[in-house]
Amino acid sequence: MGLVRLDASRVFYRFDPDIPPAARARPGDLVEFECQDALGGQIVSEEQTVASIDWNRVNPATGPLYVEGTTPGDALAVKILSIELGGKGVVVTAPGEGALPHLTREARTRICRIYEDRVEFLGLALKARKMIGVIGTASSERAPTGVPGRHGGNLDTRLIGEGSTVYLPVEYEGGLLGIGDLHAVMGDGEVCVAACEVSGKVLARIGVLRGLAPKWPMVETRDATYLIISAEGLENALKLAVEEAVGALSRALNLDWYDAYMLASMALDFEISQVVDPRKTVRVRVPKEVVPATRLLESFARSRGR
Ligand code: CA
Repeated sequence: MGLVRLDASRVFYRFDPDIPPAARARPGDLVEFECQDALGGQIVSEEQTVASIDWNRVNPATGPLYVEGTTPGDALAVKILSIELGGKGVVVTAPGEGALPHLTREARTRICRIYEDRVEFLGLALKARKMIGVIGTASSERAPTGVPGRHGGNLDTRLIGEGSTVYLPVEYEGGLLGIGDLHAVMGDGEVCVAACEVSGKVLARIGVLRGLAPKWPMVETRDATYLIISAEGLENALKLAVEEAVGALSRALNLDWYDAYMLASMALDFEISQVVDPRKTVRVRVPKEVVPATRLLESFARSRGR
């Protein structure tokens, strides 16, 4: 097993199967993704706003990484081993963006110093919660890296951090994985449109699960597995998340729809990841004591029916 490195110049802006791989790895390899921040490193002072930057360089993902031997229908299992951040992050907002676009009359930028496990914002020392905003594979949708979907993408889900494993569908040979958009800290919702956006490095171990491409991205943590569902509008995302979760529970535990619906109501948590991207993202927390991760993966694989 080897170590593969991708530097921060190897970026792409669309999860598109026609973009040639920047590097290759084998299942089991460690891969280090060096990432620009979500603004392409273009904002370096509080005098600059997002109005002044080149939007073609926003949301870069490092990659694509071709994983040898993977074929359509497989799942990539990306275990996040460590995230190392730069010393400065940036948070921005602007008119027309965020959860309150009608109240946002000016663009503003704040630079945050990052040190040890803290993020300094206006004299407050926030506890860092390092995470990955963008992680995905090439898909026929060819979605820009700023959009979340079945392929992953701009999931902005703060549980995608050290120690967690992200499961993504392989739609094209090699998977063509990309990672970017690191955050030093973000709250659920990401309401002002940005988190503490920062450059850095992600070290991940790449695994492959044959034939287990999940219908939507999944994240496994120590005690739970999450389904990550995105749709136009938060209410649609929530309804779809409930529907998908009930279907997965029903198949995993061999329950009829009504029993699975009732179990979902008692045992699952429906949480908000973000409300500010082109699609909104809801995550479903499925405790491992209710369904083990492997069983949920099997029941949520595309090939096992809808
Ligand atoms: Ca993001």
